[in-house]
Amino acid sequence: MRIRVEDIPVGGQEIEAGLETTWAREAVQEAMDAAPTTLSARFRLALADRKTDVAVRLVVHAEADGLCDRCGEEVHRGVDLDTDLVYQPEPTSVSEEEIELGEDDLDVGWYRDGHLSLPDILMEAVALELPSRVLCTDEEACEARTRAMLAAASEGGAGHPAFAALKNLKN
Ligand SMILES: [Zn+2]
Repeated sequence: MRIRVEDIPVGGQEIEAGLETTWAREAVQEAMDAAPTTLSARFRLALADRKTDVAVRLVVHAEADGLCDRCGEEVHRGVDLDTDLVYQPEPTSVSEEEIELGEDDLDVGWYRDGHLSLPDILMEAVALELPSRVLCTDEEACEARTRAMLAAASEGGAGHPAFAALKNLKN
């Protein structure tokens, strides 16, 4: 799903995507590393200051199931984000050293060949919103399950060096 920046109407443009929208579903799946079970995404595109700058308001609600990185239990994950982004044409004629970035420009993204890639924008925004590790929301229960796993490992799993290392840590 690529939007030609030239074609964005003066009054702006709104694009909605859900689970049935293949490109949106695939982008979120890549970001969450799991197929989303719920998805709604709304893009509001508007040309900003210079006609080549595009202001993007992105609102996303997505849910997916995954496994806890710590105890392996099934975890329900949700993302709710509402963010304002700015995209400018990728500079081509100047080398990177010549681009002067002001503090306000830190959140600026680039687009190429006159087109915005909505899947890329969606994927990056969702990936940024997610914690780097998938963990149970119930920390106590997660801790208990992890302890039980460690205990089982130290009792029976003497053969595996990783288990032996865990045992030493515990003692
Ligand atoms: Zn857990």
